[in-house]
Amino acid sequence: MIAMTSGYRLLPSVERLLSHERALGLIEAHSRQVVVDAVRQRLDEARAAIAGGSAAPQPDEIIDAVCEQVEAMDRPWPRHVINATGVALHTNLGRAPLSDDAIAAMRRTAQGYSDLELDLAAGRRGSRQAHISKLVGRATGAEAALVVNNNASAVMLGLAAIASGKEVIVSRGEAVEIGGGFRIPDVLGQSGATLVEVGTTNRTYARDYEAAIGENTGALLAVHASNFRVMGFTHAPQVGELVEIGGQYGVPVLHDLGSGCLLDTTRFKLAHEPMPQESVSAGVGLSFFSGDKLLGGPQAGIIAGKRELVDIVARHPLARAMRIDKLSMAALAATLEHYIRGEALDKVPVWRMIAMTSDDVKSRAALWAEKIGARASPVKSQSTIGGGSLPGETLSTWALAIDCEGIEGGAEEVAKRLREADAPVLGRIEDGRVLLDARTTLPNEDALLLRSVQSALHGEG
Ligand SMILES: *Cc1c(COP(=O)(O)O)cnc(C)c1O
Repeated sequence: MIAMTSGYRLLPSVERLLSHERALGLIEAHSRQVVVDAVRQRLDEARAAIAGGSAAPQPDEIIDAVCEQVEAMDRPWPRHVINATGVALHTNLGRAPLSDDAIAAMRRTAQGYSDLELDLAAGRRGSRQAHISKLVGRATGAEAALVVNNNASAVMLGLAAIASGKEVIVSRGEAVEIGGGFRIPDVLGQSGATLVEVGTTNRTYARDYEAAIGENTGALLAVHASNFRVMGFTHAPQVGELVEIGGQYGVPVLHDLGSGCLLDTTRFKLAHEPMPQESVSAGVGLSFFSGDKLLGGPQAGIIAGKRELVDIVARHPLARAMRIDKLSMAALAATLEHYIRGEALDKVPVWRMIAMTSDDVKSRAALWAEKIGARASPVKSQSTIGGGSLPGETLSTWALAIDCEGIEGGAEEVAKRLREADAPVLGRIEDGRVLLDARTTLPNEDALLLRSVQSALHGEG
């Protein structure tokens, strides 16, 4: 009790802390009120700690904490982080990094005015969709396309425009949830369509869809199970079979592909990810896919397909509510150009990561290990694609393994220090070691990563 009381007495006053040299510097750089608030909060915390039996912190320690708090408040957000997780499309880290050309296009569009909705030759109002529709057409073979702000809204809009007030036939195995609250039955409900489930969880045949078609059928909907895999005794019809049945009854087929994978993943010993080109050539009415999954571009939802259907979608009032912004549009156009020019493997960061040979990844991890020295070694491991693409599929990779033995708090503590470094690094923990994957770390990030690792290890005190 006595120790506690004297603990409180040892705490400096607000005024005394504010007259500290570093506090004065902070007040000059930020504002008095912000610093006063931070000082009060730190003192409250110190009192609580004393009540819990701890000793009173020194004034310098309190000032350290105040500086950290005030500076953190003024840090730009979102911060750049280094993705050494091995997950190429990490939703928490912003999914796909953009190509240099896509970034340049965004910058150009942001800096000044643009012909976003103007036909320069005619001097008339144009559509922001006209140019992108042609690019999607060239990349996928679709007659027309419309772009909205993400794939969730693309699916919602497509269903609302084509099948509101009607029945939509979906396989029981595809009435799924795709991360973050996107559930096919709920989306269908919100679009004003009625879900008609057919088949079973593991097996659905084309004839199941056919048997369910009635007077009020608005569409057949196929959904790619992006984030899970069903194995064993399973069956799902090809979209081509659905197109054939739809054709017989005059019902359009809608296909939610999830990822806009425009390159063949089997080239990289991965399972085949459905491609928009395949759906288009199979005769699907509308295909929906994301811009920031395997397409490797900005967040966007692409609706590609038959012109007559795309026109119906474009006229729906929700299309305006889901409009994509000009910066994403610019980045998407530049990203699509990479595919059209046949240079996506070299230019689109996600594909560069996927295409990186195991030898190249290995030399990079080995180089890192050499620079770090003791505690570091290159190890063979597995990377995943992530972002709801290719579930269960892995790419063999190499990582820098950091041995955390003897460090208090072990791998958890080292991972935390890496996250809190000036250039935050995200890795993964395996067998008590921190692994930093050399496949998903971007080409220009080596020096930053090494500096963060050094500081995390030297902070081991
Ligand atoms: C990811 C995904 C969505 C949602 O796409 P967003 O671009 O994240 O909105 C919808 N359907 C499927 C099948 C998906 O994989």
